[in-house]
Parts: sequence; C-alpha cells; structure tokens
Amino acid sequence: MSLLIKGGEIAREEGAPVRGDVLVENGVIKAVGQNLEAPEGVREVDADGKIVAPAMFDAHVHFREPGQEHKEDIAHGTEAAINGGVTGVVMMPNTSPVIDSAAVVGAVLDKARQVSRIPVYTSGCITKGRTGEGLAGIDGMRNLGVVMLTDDGDPVANPAVLKNAMEYATSFGMFFASHCEVPELSGPRALNEGKVSYQLGIKGSPACSEEICMDRDIRLAHATGAHVHIQHVSSAIGMKTVRWWKERGAKVTAEVAPHHLIFNEEDIGEYDTHYKMNPPLRTLEDNAALLEGLKEGVFDLIATDHAPHGEFEKGQDFVSAPNGITGLETALVSLHDRFIAAGEFGWDLIVKRYSAEPRRLMGLDPVAVEEGKSAELVVFDPAGETTFSRDFMRSKSVNTPFLNQTLKGRVDLVVRGSEVLLER
Ligand SMILES: [Zn+2]
Repeated sequence: MSLLIKGGEIAREEGAPVRGDVLVENGVIKAVGQNLEAPEGVREVDADGKIVAPAMFDAHVHFREPGQEHKEDIAHGTEAAINGGVTGVVMMPNTSPVIDSAAVVGAVLDKARQVSRIPVYTSGCITKGRTGEGLAGIDGMRNLGVVMLTDDGDPVANPAVLKNAMEYATSFGMFFASHCEVPELSGPRALNEGKVSYQLGIKGSPACSEEICMDRDIRLAHATGAHVHIQHVSSAIGMKTVRWWKERGAKVTAEVAPHHLIFNEEDIGEYDTHYKMNPPLRTLEDNAALLEGLKEGVFDLIATDHAPHGEFEKGQDFVSAPNGITGLETALVSLHDRFIAAGEFGWDLIVKRYSAEPRRLMGLDPVAVEEGKSAELVVFDPAGETTFSRDFMRSKSVNTPFLNQTLKGRVDLVVRGSEVLLER
C-alpha cells in the first residue's frame, strides 16, 4: 500500500502543526516535504485543511474478554479503537477470570493476535484473583511482556500487600497503575459526595476517598523505589497531590480521562447512568483544575477508561447500574470539539498526551509523522462532523453521553504500516 497525503497540517509533540505532504510507501514514511509528486501508481489523498497526526494510544481500556463478551470483546474493542484514531491499547485485567497469571495473559494475547488489526497489550493484576490478598503470578506475566500491574476497579486496600508487591515487581522492571479509593469512604460508589448527591438523596463518594489513597500509593512507591502511575484522577486536590509529589522527585506519572475534563456532577440530571463512573464526575472547579493540570504537564497522559456495559445493565436504577462509559470512539473528536476548537490547547498537547507519552509509559517508541518512520497516522478533519449514532459505533456497547450527539471533527483516515485501517 502506498499513499501520498497532500497538503495536510502535520501535528507534532512540540509546536504548532506544519503544512506538508507525506509519502507513505510499503508501510514506511518515505518523504515529508513540500510539493511532493506521487510516484507512478501511488494514490493521492487530499488532506488540504486537515490534520495529519501520529495515531493515538490508549493506556486504559476494558475489553471484557474473557468473561463478559456480551459487553465487549477484543475484536470489537480494537475496531472501536481504530474508529477513534487509536492504534494501540492496554487492557485492564478485571476480566472473568481475571488476568493474574501467565496462562490467562497468554490466552488473551493469543486471541488478540488472531482478531485484532492493532497491537494489544495487557496489564496484569497485582493480587491473585484481584482479591487484595496474595500476590498474582507476577514473574510469569513478566515473561510474557506484561509491564503494568493493577487491580483497577479497586485499590489494593491493604498497604502491606501493595508495599510487598512494589518491592518484588520493581526488581523485574515493572510498574504499578493505581485505581485510588478508600472503600470504607466510598459507599455504594454511585456519584460524587456533594450538592447533587444531597439533592438526589444518594450517598456520595467523596473526593477525599480518592485523594487519601492516591497519597498513600505514591508514598509507598516513593518508599520502595517503585514507579506508580495514578489512573483516572478526578479531583483538584488529586491533581495537586500528583504535582506535589512530582516536585519532590517521586517516580509518579498520572492520567486524566476525557470525561473528567468535560463533564461534572450537574450533568447527571435525572439519574442519567451515562454519567455514572468511578471515580465519579465531580464539580466544575474540578474540571478546571484537571484542565490546568493537563496543560501544565502534571498529567502525563490522557486515557479513556473505555468501559462498555450493555443497555440492560445501564438501564437499571442509578445505584444499581454499573460504573463506566465507553470512550475509544469519542475521545479524539470530543477533545477536539471541547478544547482544540475552543482554543484551550493545540494538537501538540494531544500528540504528546494521547500518542507519545502513553507509548513511552509502556516502554514503546512513540510514533511520529517523520521521514524514515513506520507509518502510523491519522488524518483528522477539523471542519468535519461526527454523529455518534449506533451505526457509527463499532464497540458492542453504546453507553456514552455522546450517543446521538454531533460533535466538531472527524477521523477520516487511519493508517498503520502498509494497511489502511479506516477510510471515511
Ligand atoms: Zn479504575
């Protein structure tokens, strides 16, 4: 497959996009420059007015396989990723059975090799059975390439267990991803404790539940020499906790999810479960602080926490419905609509935080639209629109607040190596 992508604005990690043509031949970027001519037989793609960016990478997705394939599976999850301009993902291990041993890791990676058109990585559990007690089969998982350990969905409640795991796994070059909350403070884990929880009469989960655990996990990492990655930070003090520790040299990285930047507890309205996730949506002030943290670099990366659930499950009452929303198909367009188009930040931030840094976290080389690099890119039309209809979605689930909404921006083309993964 060879392509000449003409006249696009090439997005980079540093600086504003630069206009240029991109020649892809046999999966490799052969040339980047002005007024390139298409060699014989090479198809031309008009990218005038469009962004040509390195493809995205999502370090936090739930693909529900094995065990809950009616919600999502690796085949549909990876196609949803491609639909959103994402060409690499890291699965979370809270499947059924959980991913806590070499045997399950092997089965998941084998399946991914059979059904996925993009690379799939998986994290592994910290504790056996994700029960918070004995350690998972850490060295066996490491032998199969697992580098991220997490009990995501829950914290490791016992700090002695986490400390032990950190001392052990750090010697293998692995790192920890922490889902932070104090279960005893979180109640039914339905929504933020505050104005809206009082109005609705549902016990809320206070931001301090997340912040106490975050501080604890970073302290444990600092004490043991481990690297801890804080997942889905949702509050202003959470952002400041990460900043405080970074300033003191702790080995900490952190992520923020698009929904925590865009929505807040007021959006729940009349018990709309498409706004229910854990950690919950908090306040307008938290939205502003998270955006500030993203611009400042407190957050190393953006990750969606793509969490598919069926309509039956999300159709229950607000307390019973499961936590989480899908994100892979909506992330790039919604970040463009809300922030890039509004002038809050530029494509350099997106490339750094949703493409380069998540790959670096996983020990991978970032992809870039540069001569000599392997082709792994998206063409994005900022003047286009995307309607997130059921037909549009490739995920098995459609539990997103953006369902049937039309947003500014459209992923037009996704290329990886010598394959055009998507063309609209
Ligand atoms: Zn989580």
